[in-house]
Amino acid sequence: MERVQALEIVKPHLTDHRYTHTIGVMETAIQLAKQEGIDQGKAELASIFHDYAKFRPKEEMRQLIKEQNLGDDFLNYGDELLHAPCGAYWVKHEVGISDEEVLSAIRFHTTGKPDMTTLEKVVFLADYIEPGRHFPGVEEVREVAVKDLNYACIMSLRNTMAFLMKKNQLVYPDTLAAYNHLITERKK
Ligand code: FE
Ligand code: FE
Repeated sequence: MERVQALEIVKPHLTDHRYTHTIGVMETAIQLAKQEGIDQGKAELASIFHDYAKFRPKEEMRQLIKEQNLGDDFLNYGDELLHAPCGAYWVKHEVGISDEEVLSAIRFHTTGKPDMTTLEKVVFLADYIEPGRHFPGVEEVREVAVKDLNYACIMSLRNTMAFLMKKNQLVYPDTLAAYNHLITERKK
């Protein structure tokens, strides 16, 4: 699918702010894909659709996760997680994208998971560091991302978990597992 067509499909599902974010994620992901030598088209497609389900009713998403067995875990760690697995499902069944690598990058863009593919890391990280993001520590992650994708993922996972913990919120187990996996790999 061409970029123009993909953007036309996703636009009505997003607010203006979220659409601008999506363009930022797309540009960042393409840049990272180029840097890492992976398929730029897949990075483009996954990032265009990564927040496809962001504004669907929470109840509809909970229902879908239960009915389609998208992973009960996603139900119990805060509503912010729901749009990732539901997005992957609807992008497949409503938009007709069948590339499992692309769908998986959408599915895990919020939580991360252990043993991520490079494409999954690229989309996860692009979502975190796109130019529209402004929060303490993001510039540091941007600087690392251009030379060490894995360490930049470690930093963003760590920041995300610290942020949640400071607010007394739950941490999704696979987010910690993603962190542990990357740290273990790094020590080898
Ligand atoms: Fe998202
Ligand atoms: Fe996003």
